Amino acid sequence: MESKIWLSSPHMSGKEQSYINNAFETNWIAPLGPHVSGFESDIQNYLQEYRQVAALSSGTAAIHLSLILLGVTNGDEVICQSKTFSASANPIVYLGATPVFVDSEASTWNMCPEQLENAIKDRLEKGKKPKAIIAVHLYGMPYQVDEIHRIAERYDIPVIEDSAEAFGSHYNNRKCGTFGEFAILSFNGNKIITTSGGGALVTNSLKMKERAIFLATQAREKAVEYLHEAIGYNYRLSNVLAGIGRGQIQVLDDRVKARRRNFETYASELRDIEELTFNTEPDGFYSNRWLTAVLTPSEDVREGIRNALDQQNIESRPLWKPMHQQPVFKDAPNYLNGVSDELFHRGLCLPSGSNLSENELDRVISAIKMYFRV
Ligand SMILES: *Cc1c(COP(=O)(O)O)cnc(C)c1O
Repeated sequence: MESKIWLSSPHMSGKEQSYINNAFETNWIAPLGPHVSGFESDIQNYLQEYRQVAALSSGTAAIHLSLILLGVTNGDEVICQSKTFSASANPIVYLGATPVFVDSEASTWNMCPEQLENAIKDRLEKGKKPKAIIAVHLYGMPYQVDEIHRIAERYDIPVIEDSAEAFGSHYNNRKCGTFGEFAILSFNGNKIITTSGGGALVTNSLKMKERAIFLATQAREKAVEYLHEAIGYNYRLSNVLAGIGRGQIQVLDDRVKARRRNFETYASELRDIEELTFNTEPDGFYSNRWLTAVLTPSEDVREGIRNALDQQNIESRPLWKPMHQQPVFKDAPNYLNGVSDELFHRGLCLPSGSNLSENELDRVISAIKMYFRV
């Protein structure tokens, strides 16, 4: 059996180890320390646009705190892109609020502006104004930023920008992670850069950053005896892991280049197979191509390719099953147009790691060509 090819695996730069050693030598083995604030500055410098960053234990934690900072509580409604990973929506439920799912449009596969406006109007008619909108740059492709934010502003609803998969992507030369009232990043093991587990909350307000860090460190008031006036969380990033992040962020742009090269290779090597299509970037959109996904004619073909790859010890995965189809969210209201269902049935994510070798890419491409007998 040939070696396993993963969908997306960690890719260290070699610069991480000295930061980890430093954490050990200085005994900063804690969810605070110089690497935590250093990593926050690194992210701020990368994003620019006067952003403030709080380093956290996960992207999920960052979404949870964003919702809390926007005042979401029991009984509220929050609009969320249906085509996403469940972590975008779960924190809504942690707070006793209800997710309202909105379908995608076909060009970016992200939140459909028309359906978003339908959803807002209908919720308003039913007497409830959504407290927030969670929009996602899925697989690294920016959502239609101008359209989504114009609608959000028209109805005065804040946007949480889920940029977990889109660090390094940009839209009209502005980096993803700088558009929402809050944005979130993830450094989970499968993301474009990783701290093994970790995330960040991004805001333009120093006050909000400080409040996020306060909540993320058990909401301890300034008193020696552990005084609490709010419910806190244990969500701060560890100094050891932040050290990994400091080594990783130095190569983020190289990782984007490598993932975009994967996309170009798949698209050009498979261009003669008429059954297969790839999503192109609309003008002004720049995707980090975190995952390359291919659209097939049907669920049968998608599964045929997936099984053919699996037999060669190659991991691939259907495009994420939309949240409105998930048993756990079956009672949530939704506003659908069929796009995310069709993408789910026809789409397949291909191995996309920045550390894939030429030989590994060849193995994937050959297996797909063999399936189509070309
Ligand atoms: C990975 C991911 C998250 C969650 O990030 P974690 O750091 O794993 O908690 C949220 N949203 C999307 C779209 C993701 O891909």
